[in-house]
Amino acid sequence: MTRRPIIAGNWKMHNLVSDSIALVQEIMNKLSDENINDLPTIVVAPVYTSLYSVNETINKCGCGKIKLGAQNCYFEEKGAFTGEESTQMLKDVGCEYIIIGHSERRGYFNESDEMINKKAKAILNNGLIPIICCGESLEQRENNETDTHIASQIKAALNGLTNEEIEKSVIAYEPIWAIGTGKTCDAIEANRTIKEIRKTIAQISNENTAQAVRILYGGSVKPETIKEQMAQSDIDGALVGGASLKAQSFVDIVLGAKK
Ligand code: PEP
Repeated sequence: MTRRPIIAGNWKMHNLVSDSIALVQEIMNKLSDENINDLPTIVVAPVYTSLYSVNETINKCGCGKIKLGAQNCYFEEKGAFTGEESTQMLKDVGCEYIIIGHSERRGYFNESDEMINKKAKAILNNGLIPIICCGESLEQRENNETDTHIASQIKAALNGLTNEEIEKSVIAYEPIWAIGTGKTCDAIEANRTIKEIRKTIAQISNENTAQAVRILYGGSVKPETIKEQMAQSDIDGALVGGASLKAQSFVDIVLGAKK
């Protein structure tokens, strides 16, 4: 089963419009000599206010090397939901991917598994691809609760999806203690956890579906770590925070993920 790798940059709450345009432009310049077929799928997820302009910048080059992602969405189509954006609205500005269930959203904004499941359904219903984050806290890891916690997050997030929808979805395994801390999860351990995620997916769908889903690792990924991560059997790419904010480090990660 070949799974095309994905490198997704989560820019979090950084960059004004002009900074976002400059960053994506620099990334594209640095990749201009690369053949698209050799590259992983590349996604950048700027703040909402930069989506339109980053999309225009990506489209101007017309090379199709960079896909646009959003960092969140709401599951309703429209209505009195002040401050929220629907999947249709994000599609309208060019998004193809939407990150959901990031631990920062679960933690700071109290997002529940149920909400994440509703968002996954809304994203897939609009023909977009959810990047569904899961991951354990340090306390859960120390209490040997990693696998049970992640299995319950995955079962909840994928609840009610068809096998086809599950196959289209992307999962990002992001141990919370590794996000933004500089501490990367050991690649062999990350691979073991990701294999557990595949087992959970097989239980709720089937083995073929579990083998087809792309599962990323996220948590302090850097140019120096990506090769070892990509050498693992079940790691299909990375969700990158801090290192995606500098064109050179992001491009080094992208090039390090070439299979
Ligand atoms: C993230 O925000 O998803 C992330 C993995 O951040 P960082 O790479 O900075 O740890």
